[in-house]
Amino acid sequence: MKLIQFTLKDDLEQTLRIGGSVDGIAFCELESKGTMRDLIRRLDGSQAALEGLEARIRGAEASYTREQIRLLSPLTDPDKIICIGLNYADHVKESKMQTPKVPVLFPKYRNSLIGDGDAVVIPRDVQQCDYEAELAFIVGRTAKHVPIEEAMNYVFGYTIVNDVSARDIQLNEPQWTRGKAIDTFAPTGPWIVTADEISDPHRLDISLKLNGEVMQSSNTKELIFNVPYLLSFLSKTITLQPGDIISTGTPFGVGMGRNPQVWLKDGDVTEIEIANIGLLSTTYEAEKE
Ligand code: MG
Repeated sequence: MKLIQFTLKDDLEQTLRIGGSVDGIAFCELESKGTMRDLIRRLDGSQAALEGLEARIRGAEASYTREQIRLLSPLTDPDKIICIGLNYADHVKESKMQTPKVPVLFPKYRNSLIGDGDAVVIPRDVQQCDYEAELAFIVGRTAKHVPIEEAMNYVFGYTIVNDVSARDIQLNEPQWTRGKAIDTFAPTGPWIVTADEISDPHRLDISLKLNGEVMQSSNTKELIFNVPYLLSFLSKTITLQPGDIISTGTPFGVGMGRNPQVWLKDGDVTEIEIANIGLLSTTYEAEKE
């Protein structure tokens, strides 16, 4: 099933709502209070509770079409957003970096999260704004010291993250955070696909188009550190919480690595597609004076 956070286009108060869909076309409303993070926490990884939720969606009379709603990031208040850098070999090469021996981590925060169709605002001082198509997994249960063999039991589902990056800040400062954790720089969605629908997260085609032209085209089988490894590794030192977003890194083809280099500008549109998950569309606009 697909789980969304949304507002109704004609709702003046723009109340955050939680909804679900089986086909991604017709959406029913599931909750009117709390956020997706609260829902994931309540489900607590219970298969029976998940099946109950799916039965509710299947039994519901579809309330809304996609045209009636505005999708928000499927998580707006995660405890953590952890991004993995340099996790595809050909992207390491185009970045002119060394293949990491342990996962490279950096954070983003809630200020970066926007939903499908929303606009990234390129700050006035940023000249080198870049896209990064990424598979992200969502943590379903509190996780600490989880062995690799058990790690997949802690994955609630999957979504798409565009790890938008200001290269002129990221690569000119000792830490990446200021070039990565910028307002609106984490488009996420369009929804969470629950883990039961993705039999193998390491066999998914992933691509990104910029203004209709394919810029990235790869498969998650190329990941250096895979989903269970990352969850287990992170949980050794960080207690992962329900609703945490872990973005697994981007493949070859970012704007920085191209000749000539390509930087995002006002009016651009990117579309990231991951097989069995969906399509995340993002527009870009220059910050107003
Ligand atoms: Mg990235």
